[in-house]
Amino acid sequence: MSTLKVAGFLEHSTVNGEGFRSVLFLSGCLHHCPGCHNPEMQSFEYGDDVPINVILAKIKKNLPLIDGITLSGGDPFEQATSLILLLKEVKALGLSIWAYTGYTYEQLLQEPKFKPMLELTDVLVDGPFIKALKTDTKKYVGSSNQRIFKLLNGQIEKELFFS
Ligand code: SF4
Repeated sequence: MSTLKVAGFLEHSTVNGEGFRSVLFLSGCLHHCPGCHNPEMQSFEYGDDVPINVILAKIKKNLPLIDGITLSGGDPFEQATSLILLLKEVKALGLSIWAYTGYTYEQLLQEPKFKPMLELTDVLVDGPFIKALKTDTKKYVGSSNQRIFKLLNGQIEKELFFS
């Protein structure tokens, strides 16, 4: 049974993406942004090894309340290969997938191992947190360099702006 290294799980949130969402925090991040909001989650050893079917059951428990799930961390793309199994099941439930990452969209495109996860992602919030660009006014991001893209099959459909 495949597992993911999980740093945390929020049953419901309205601040980690549009609508009502369960949030899965994945351990491990290579970006080391100064001022990181979850520094403990940068470690690939932080958290628990949780079987994918257990995570899926937790998500299912929140149906039909939730609109989707949000992947945060850490950088979820560091566990992209293992995440695919979960994300396919989540999509089959009709739920949307938001993913936060410290990589830019352009950087993700350069790594073939990230492609399947990008193709399953509905909304990507990209780029590292940059302390000097910290914002409290741009919804769903921590710094103004970060962008929110609506994706379709891994391609940018449009950039989203929320107020
Ligand atoms: S990408 Fe996110 S989790 Fe990773 S160091 Fe930057 S702020 Fe922290």
